[in-house]
Amino acid sequence: MRQRRPLWQSFVTEQRSSAPRDYSAILQQIADEVRPLVGTGKVAAYIPRLAEVPPDRFGIAIATLDGKIYRAGSAREAFSVQSISKVFTLTLALEAVGARLWERVGREPSGNAFNSLIQLEREQGIPRNPLINAGALVVADVLLGALPHGLDDLLSFVRARSGNHSINIDAEVAASERDAGFRNAALANFIRSFGNLQHPVDDVLNFYFHQCALAMDCVDLARTFLHLANRGYCPGSRMPVITEERARRINALMMTCGTYDAAGEFAFRVGLPAKSGVGGGIVAVVPDVLTLAVWSPGLDERGNSLAGAAALARFVELTGLSVF
Ligand code: GLN
Repeated sequence: MRQRRPLWQSFVTEQRSSAPRDYSAILQQIADEVRPLVGTGKVAAYIPRLAEVPPDRFGIAIATLDGKIYRAGSAREAFSVQSISKVFTLTLALEAVGARLWERVGREPSGNAFNSLIQLEREQGIPRNPLINAGALVVADVLLGALPHGLDDLLSFVRARSGNHSINIDAEVAASERDAGFRNAALANFIRSFGNLQHPVDDVLNFYFHQCALAMDCVDLARTFLHLANRGYCPGSRMPVITEERARRINALMMTCGTYDAAGEFAFRVGLPAKSGVGGGIVAVVPDVLTLAVWSPGLDERGNSLAGAAALARFVELTGLSVF
């Protein structure tokens, strides 16, 4: 049974959701306003295949709890989700092994780059959190032992949640990242040296590179995150995807760790649980109201979409929808 909400919370929820909003017009306004930023920043050239993505793209989509989709720009153009996939694998790993996951990965923001090695030495191969590369490699190792059909189970999860059964993994992006994946290989070997990987390093890397190479568009992503805005429930039904507590915790991790060493700045500017990827996507959750996915390939120096972050900040300014 769903728990009753405290009075103040239902008040806030009502205030948020019943206010009539023309999200289509808001998204179009945001797309127009951030246009000068689109094409600025740097595409993630360290993965050669991603360097070929046209930098002038911008897409944005909203999925609301009452089943509506709003969009602007290239919201139906698929792109490489990259680290956004870390939320999916974290979810599956928690479903598989529960709190035992936390024996192998922490829950603190790293304050370092997403692919940094330095904390691992001091912290004995226990990555700071599951949303940086080191943590996601441990999560991939957990899933190799827990998912009966491996990557197919991951695909089934995102297809079911998004309702788009044509979502796939871009094998060329995965191969491109593998060919240039020296740093991730270093991370995986380092973690393994501390005994915190149980499967062969190559298998773990293979899983990780493929999860990052999932190709999805803004509408797919907004839909796939919707249960995180709905206390773990599949919107429009009484079916829990995950427990309410788990949804709350995944949102907390996104807030504190989802944009790497920019998480503090992101909370300051946007104030929503969010996860970014070097493909230029960012997905944000407005609890009890909606999800918002944005894509633009030009990145800032911390690996977050420049126009995407600006769009999210503008969305919060225009709507007041923030957890703060
Ligand atoms: N596949 C990328 C990497 O491992 C993911 C990083 C990201 O999106 N921040 O470097």
